[in-house]
Amino acid sequence: MCRAASDVRRPPILGSMMGKSHALSGAVGWLGGCAGLVAAGHPVGPVAVVAGAVVSSGFALLPDIDHPGSTVSRTLGPVTRLISRSVSDAAGAFGKATCDHCDRRPGQGGHRLITHTVPFALAVFAIAALAGRVWGVTTSVVIVGFAVWLATHTALRPNTRAEIIDALIPGQVRGKRARKYAAALGSLVAAAVVALAVREVAEPGASWWWVGLAAGWGTLAHSLGDSLTHWGSPLFWPARIRGCTWRTVGTPRWMRFRAGGAVERWLVAPAMGLFGLGAAYLLLAPFARTYLG
Ligand SMILES: [Zn+2]
Ligand SMILES: [Zn+2]
Repeated sequence: MCRAASDVRRPPILGSMMGKSHALSGAVGWLGGCAGLVAAGHPVGPVAVVAGAVVSSGFALLPDIDHPGSTVSRTLGPVTRLISRSVSDAAGAFGKATCDHCDRRPGQGGHRLITHTVPFALAVFAIAALAGRVWGVTTSVVIVGFAVWLATHTALRPNTRAEIIDALIPGQVRGKRARKYAAALGSLVAAAVVALAVREVAEPGASWWWVGLAAGWGTLAHSLGDSLTHWGSPLFWPARIRGCTWRTVGTPRWMRFRAGGAVERWLVAPAMGLFGLGAAYLLLAPFARTYLG
């Protein structure tokens, strides 16, 4: 496969979009989808709008668990690095075993393989939807909490996360090491607070299968995002494209932008943010008006 000379300058993260852009794309896609449903005459409750956006943004970080340097792989230090390394090894071995045609870059390992496919997103959807349907609100708030926990690692700086703990036990977080642990703990606290809040406002007995939709969508949004940047994703595995089941696909090459570059930072991310804010306003303003009288 022909690679542009500019690809050599790729950062070590292997040309992944920034974690922030991935998380944003998940949430914005969810809000856009909800707005579309409302426009088509299907009401969407505020819990599904907000919790779904949160789940989508968190799960949009998940596929990069196959790369030890990604945001999601660094969330719990050595623990998540170990998980990431195992996933990467397994994905790499699976990739090798299922296609002898692959033209992968040296050092790619298991990155951008099985976790960056449509079937993987469908599996995440199926598992989460089933869990939400069978075990209802309890499982669902766990999924919401997990997503928030992931999202805080890209949405909040470590210092901000440590401040959460500092606010709870003032003056106790001293030294660099303590701040590191406090940052990890801060994410957990934020996740628990949001999860409990969702539980609090959730209608009793409501169906939660849509949590699976949000989780699956977020996972897919990640791989779609990667398809917009230079490397593309093997979205259509196990379909064989030009002899290879792991062939990366994406927008036409001239349309792809450099991961983490100016286009992403100053055009794609702000545009997504504006669209998301607009959709959130349209979706939530009516509820806010009723609530505030
Ligand atoms: Zn990725
Ligand atoms: Zn192949």
